[in-house]
Amino acid sequence: MITPTKHKARKRFGQNFLTDQTIIDKIITTIAPKQTDNLLEIGPGQGALTLPLLERVDQLSAIEIDRDLIKLLTAYNKPNLIIHQGDALSFDLAQFNPPIRVVGNLPYNISSPILFHLLNHRDKIIDMTFMLQKEVAERMSAAHGSKIYGRLSVMMQAFFKVELIFIVPPESFDPAPKVDSAIIYLTPLKVCKVGNIAYFEQVVKAAFAHRRKTLRNCLKSLLTQEHTQINLSQRAEMLDIDTFITLAKDYEKQH
Ligand code: SAM
Repeated sequence: MITPTKHKARKRFGQNFLTDQTIIDKIITTIAPKQTDNLLEIGPGQGALTLPLLERVDQLSAIEIDRDLIKLLTAYNKPNLIIHQGDALSFDLAQFNPPIRVVGNLPYNISSPILFHLLNHRDKIIDMTFMLQKEVAERMSAAHGSKIYGRLSVMMQAFFKVELIFIVPPESFDPAPKVDSAIIYLTPLKVCKVGNIAYFEQVVKAAFAHRRKTLRNCLKSLLTQEHTQINLSQRAEMLDIDTFITLAKDYEKQH
């Protein structure tokens, strides 16, 4: 176990620091960094992942919102660590040399918005390895027909290969979160079949807005059965990713 430092964890920044060396080693093995990789870490915190990564790569950039943690990270005096103070949700990835590999033990309260933000930058990304709440990781990787298959599953799987790698128990952190966590590995699909992303997002969002209603009901302000061959008397959770893509294209054709 890593000895916790004196920084007092801030709940509002979702601070649960990894202290379990076995888990840290497993995450580093999953990332498998190569010396020349262009790594970007979101939320380095006290450096639980940052320090072992810095030993393996020429350079690592990190975005951290908490100024106290930035002081602590700066004090490590690592010449190959480039720290950016700011909010990962509004951070412009264009300032990094693509292609980048994104990693991080994400603040759980904003993990989904961070994923949606990165979705818009997927053309610059090789892969992403994240720690998230287990429940979120399960929703991201859920298959159609499952109760937890929803907007997050469709939006992620339409653009990325999504793999849940392993589960991490609460006691691996200080302070311990109330829930289990999981490591998820995302790689942008080489061939993405989605047409216009804005139309796709609109259809997926509307389709899952009322899970108990049929697609006919959920999508009535967007398209009706005469506009598509997809059977709209089903519920959204029954549609696989390709069917959602077809549905969004049928909607797009009307514009
Ligand atoms: N990587 C460290 C670890 O594994 O111990 C810390 C992980 S902790 C779950 C999340 C980290 O993200 C914290 O350091 C927190 O300050 C930072 N953070 C929270 N919100 C952020 C945001 N909007 N942008 C950038 N960093 C943020």
